[in-house]
Amino acid sequence: MPARDAAAQEPRTLTLAGEPLDYTLVRRRGRRGIGLKVDSSGLTVSAPLSIPLARVEKMVLESESWVLGKLAVWRTRRVPEQRWDDGASLPYLGQALTLRLAAARRAHAAVDGAELRVAVPAPGDEAVRRAVVAWYRRSALVHLAQRAFFFSRLAVLAPPRVMISSANSRWGSCNSRREVRLAWRLVKARPALVDYVVCHELAHLRHMNHSREFWAEVARLCPDYRVLRDELEATDHLYRSF
Ligand SMILES: [Zn+2]
Repeated sequence: MPARDAAAQEPRTLTLAGEPLDYTLVRRRGRRGIGLKVDSSGLTVSAPLSIPLARVEKMVLESESWVLGKLAVWRTRRVPEQRWDDGASLPYLGQALTLRLAAARRAHAAVDGAELRVAVPAPGDEAVRRAVVAWYRRSALVHLAQRAFFFSRLAVLAPPRVMISSANSRWGSCNSRREVRLAWRLVKARPALVDYVVCHELAHLRHMNHSREFWAEVARLCPDYRVLRDELEATDHLYRSF
């Protein structure tokens, strides 16, 4: 998922089925044709600079039922609210860890079986959240670096340098210095989904694009990638609670 070219983004509103609808218009030089996308941030319309706004909006109106159907699906995908009290459940690699709170002079967190034991100096959700996130980041680095090592052997690639990111909008990125950045939030997902993202980024070390050759490389490392990619997209909201 490499960085895209900078593009102008503009919040706009149009009337769809008699209701005002906010959307984001992205104008990109060199783009061909108009593209519509609906995800957790709503409707995004991408268009080349040369196409007048009226034609862009006409295209959206012509796709009205598709847009409204997609928006309805996304509205059902609510981000779950995370609780931070003793006994709360935390998603981790497809399982649930039970949060166990204690008091201590210094904040720390460690896993013990299916429990995440967190100690904080003073009670409070924010202190607990911070200690939990710090633990997720550490655990994510260990797990993701191991999986990247495993799949780089399979791909006959030199292992990349794995770094942890706090990105909310993308799961991974990589660059020509063989650095792979992966979001720590990924480890809230089940292991097969994590593996798909790792394979996706490793395949970019061979192909810095989303060409057919790139997807063939992803398929070689992760034969079920299509199903996993769809599942990750459909469950994305579940991993955004903290
Ligand atoms: Zn990619």
